[in-house]
Amino acid sequence: MLDLIDVLRASTPIFAATCAVLGLVVGSFLNVVIFRLPLMLKARWRTDCQLLDAPEGTEAPSAPRYDLAYPPSTCPGCGSRIRAIDNIPVLSYVWLRGRCRQCRSPISLRYPSVELLCGLACGVIGWQFGFGVEAVVGLILTWFLIALAGIDLDTQYLPDELTLPLLWCGLLFSVSSGQGIGAFPVSPTEAIIGSAAGYLSLWSVYHAFRLLTGREGFGYGDFKLLAALGAFGGWTILLPVILLSAMAGAIVGITLIALGRHGRHQPIPYGPFLAIAGWLVLVFPHALVSPWWPFGH
Ligand SMILES: [Zn+2]
Repeated sequence: MLDLIDVLRASTPIFAATCAVLGLVVGSFLNVVIFRLPLMLKARWRTDCQLLDAPEGTEAPSAPRYDLAYPPSTCPGCGSRIRAIDNIPVLSYVWLRGRCRQCRSPISLRYPSVELLCGLACGVIGWQFGFGVEAVVGLILTWFLIALAGIDLDTQYLPDELTLPLLWCGLLFSVSSGQGIGAFPVSPTEAIIGSAAGYLSLWSVYHAFRLLTGREGFGYGDFKLLAALGAFGGWTILLPVILLSAMAGAIVGITLIALGRHGRHQPIPYGPFLAIAGWLVLVFPHALVSPWWPFGH
């Protein structure tokens, strides 16, 4: 065990490869989170609403168990249970040629894509940060951001159940280490100011936009996500993250509308762009921010 840790500490390529493999496996779990968490929340809200109007003392209606661990995954086509051997990240998809072993109905390309993306991003984290606490925090950040981006793409909603723990995680990390990840040393003070400023900056843009246009550009989940990013990187990353995400969002939005793939008034979720921009700025600050932004370290 000690030898293994020595190897990971000594060799960045081996550590990065280990992170990538871990990322593939966690990516497979993130697919479950992206699919099931919104359904779990909806079921809970439905129960809460029923209880709200029910006479006092009414017991919550019992529902079949449904959470991240149960019931086991099944094929949506034929309902057959997915065996462990068919659940190996990416490899099973290639081996089964993207089809269910039982009924041959196609498996969404999105599952191996999320796994690949997560593996790749985790490999980059291992490579950039090397063996240590910083990499662990970077991996956790990556997993949360992928889950949030996926859920926002599907449902246009960023659950508190993910944004708030990510925020606590960033604040606690600044307390425990006295510094953030990557090139942004972040003291607890900077992390607290960063998260509050992150929330308030988008909150004010949101209300200004609503006053001016009568429309809502984004939602409260976006404020909380930027607050979480501010907790990791301090207030200095906020403007770069906002600019980068707004630019990417505008380019993608205009392209989709130009290609006729998207209605002009159909909302495009902002969370995925925030997540990508935040991740890039935190992981590659020197390349992306330092050249033009005077407040980095
Ligand atoms: Zn099937």
